[in-house]
Parts: sequence; structure tokens; C-alpha cells
Amino acid sequence: MSRQRILVVEDEPAIADTIVYALASDGFDPHWCATAGAALEAAQLGGFALAVLDVGLPDINGLELFKQLQRGTGLPAIFLTARSTEIDRVVGLELGADDYIAKPFSPRELVARVRTVLRRVQRAAPVDTSPATSGGFKIDDERKMIRLHGRPLDLSRTEYRLLRVLIERPGRVFSRDELMERAWDDPASAFDRTVDAHVKALRAKLREAAPEDDPIVTHRGLGYSLREKA
Ligand code: CA
Repeated sequence: MSRQRILVVEDEPAIADTIVYALASDGFDPHWCATAGAALEAAQLGGFALAVLDVGLPDINGLELFKQLQRGTGLPAIFLTARSTEIDRVVGLELGADDYIAKPFSPRELVARVRTVLRRVQRAAPVDTSPATSGGFKIDDERKMIRLHGRPLDLSRTEYRLLRVLIERPGRVFSRDELMERAWDDPASAFDRTVDAHVKALRAKLREAAPEDDPIVTHRGLGYSLREKA
């Protein structure tokens, strides 16, 4: 098995050095970034199993960075916090961070936490760090699951198949017949309005997951498409 890549975002070189050294000696492949901007760029390439994020960064803070990283990949993260007020914010925001560790910390402790979080997420689901597809969607065909901005959507079988058809061809308008043909086991038994009802239910779930997105477009008299993102 290849070494797991860990994104380390820490602006203080001395602390970063300690972390990088500890992770590398323990069999990980750490990648250090001193700013959130550099981290976002590095994360674009994917391939990271976990991120260690300092909360106090020079450009944008670690909490905001985490939100942006989550949007693309759902990357698990451990926060490094310097003050108790930062710990309060990490815990209080309920961002879904996997763990945090207060400075000063022992490198061994950090490595142990990294291992624990990786074990936990790998048990739950494989970490998906490849770039997201159109509109932040990611199809996991093996699990019959679709993620939006890294988070799994709770879809029925038909909703899953319906959304999958739309995601695979952003911008393409599918008629109700075409959608039925592709997403239903027995299209003959389904009615036109069944498609509308499922799209409606699907939209409600998408809205819940990402209120601002509204990715499904209705084309009057024609059908539906997935909004094309620039
Ligand atoms: Ca710092």
C-alpha cells in the first residue's frame, strides 16, 4: 500500500517541521502548505487522506479553509488550535471536524490522532479526494450513492438513478420519457407525473443539502436538465 498523503497547513515553519517530521517517520507522506491559499491549490489535485489545519493562518483562518475544502472533497480534518477561544469556536461551530488538538502538543499525540481519524473514516466510507464532478456532485457507483460537496445524499433508488442520468450530461435536456426510460425498472408502469413527483422530492433533498445550489432546471414542455456550471 502506498503511503497516505496528509495535507499539513501551518504557517509557523518550526511547528510545521515537527509535524512533517513526525508524520514522515510514522510512514505518512506529508505535504506542507504555509497558507490557506496554497492548501486549496494543493487540494485541487486530490489524493489527500486527511488534513491537519492550523486555525490561525495568515490569509483565511483554518475554519473557513476547512469549509472550502469540505465543499470540494469532504476531506477529514484535525484542527490545531493555539488558544482555548479557538477550541470553543471549533467545537461550537459543529463544522464536522474530526478532531482537534491544542498547542503545544506532542508530535506523537498528533500522529496517534491522525491514525485514529483515518481508521474511523476508512471504516465508515472510503475517503474520496478526487475532484468533484459537475456542480459538486460525485457518483459512487459501487455504493449506489451520490455525494454533494462531499456529503452523501440520502436518495431512494429511483432518485439516485434520476440524478445520475442528469449529472452525467450537464446541460442536456431530458424529456420525461427519456428519464423514465433510464431511471425506472419498468417504464411502462410509470406515469408522466411520476417523474415530476420524483424530481420534486429530489429537489427538496438537494435543497436541504445545499440551499443555494438549485441544480435542476425545468424546461417547460420539454423536461429537465442539470444546470451547467461555468
Ligand atoms: Ca498559526
